Amino acid sequence: MPVPTATPKPAAPFLPMTRPTIDDETIAGVCEVLRSGWITSGPKVKEFEAKLSAYFGGRPVRAFNSGTCTMEIALRIAGIGPGHEVITTPMSWVATSNVILEVGARPVFVDIDPVTRNIDLSRIEAAITPATRAIMPVDLAGLPVDRDQLYTIAKKHNLRVIEDAAQSFGTTWAGKRIGSFGDFVSFSFHPNKNVTTIEGGCLVLNNEAEAKLAEQYRLQGVVRSGMDGMEVEIVGGKFNLTDVAARVGLGQIAQVDAFTTRRRELARLYFEKFSTLAARSTSLLLPVADFEQSNWHMFQVVLPEEKLAVKRAEIMTQLNAAGIGTGVHYPAIHLFALYRRLGWKAGDFPHAEYFGRNTLTLPLFPTMADSDVTRVVETLVAILQQHLRS
Ligand SMILES: *Cc1c(COP(=O)(O)O)cnc(C)c1O
Repeated sequence: MPVPTATPKPAAPFLPMTRPTIDDETIAGVCEVLRSGWITSGPKVKEFEAKLSAYFGGRPVRAFNSGTCTMEIALRIAGIGPGHEVITTPMSWVATSNVILEVGARPVFVDIDPVTRNIDLSRIEAAITPATRAIMPVDLAGLPVDRDQLYTIAKKHNLRVIEDAAQSFGTTWAGKRIGSFGDFVSFSFHPNKNVTTIEGGCLVLNNEAEAKLAEQYRLQGVVRSGMDGMEVEIVGGKFNLTDVAARVGLGQIAQVDAFTTRRRELARLYFEKFSTLAARSTSLLLPVADFEQSNWHMFQVVLPEEKLAVKRAEIMTQLNAAGIGTGVHYPAIHLFALYRRLGWKAGDFPHAEYFGRNTLTLPLFPTMADSDVTRVVETLVAILQQHLRS
């Protein structure tokens, strides 16, 4: 007997905010590593590092088990610790400023430019003190921070730069890949990022001496020599990437250009769909329309707080009920309890706070269909129209 059901069939399968793309070749390669008898750091990590180095124009690269530890290690290599200040943005994943605290230094936040949503470079010089040692910019959503301006300031004040490029693998600046120039450049391979190793990260360094130090920080400070030689001179951690993870990464590097191309197409389509009269009447703020340099790690809109009768959570709930996943990247860092205890407060960085309250990340990943973009825009516009104050 057929069971009667009151639950209507959803119109379309649930569309997540993001989804990693792992092809069959990669899956077969992972199986091979699993059967090989060597599954932790070994030949695949070496091969992955060599591929990354080639991708970044031959600069030294080392792989790690997160994008967080890569930044912490860069700070340690730069000799940054207690008594030092590092200038960064309050609009990032909290890892960016947590690692500054982790090494005993103090983050100095500089508000974002509300258009690019990246650190406002024109405000950096005013934040420099005798204790400043480095600048840690973030390419939010993959949109590059102006590297010319950034390195002009760094050189003038003799500061190190640790680029948090977790979101900008495949992004370019003035025709050059992010990571192929500059000082330290850190990437994350978390599954939400454009290139994944499940968990992982890599650090682009300036020379072999730094790379050697990075290897020590990566694994208990150990240096091996000869057949049986071992020495430990510094305190290192446990940050090595596995060969299984590196094999996933090798499969990703082969596809990254195709990923970026597809992400740019989808972003362009979002702009097309949002350019209709109905969408413009909602006063949504769109990101910078950069189809040349950005890798379109995310597509983030800003809801018109002043014009809406409901909060962001309600919009997200309704989108979710319509089968569309969204995310928030990110609440402003300085307003987290930990940072408020350290002295920051509401009102310190108004642009980051406004963006943090109202930003919404829409679905964007390489295997999304064009029709998914249409569905997201039409659904979001219809929901916003229900809630606009007259
Ligand atoms: C993902 C991310 C990180 C941290 O990377 P993990 O691999 O998760 O440790 C740091 N900064 C930014 C901007 C990120 O998006």
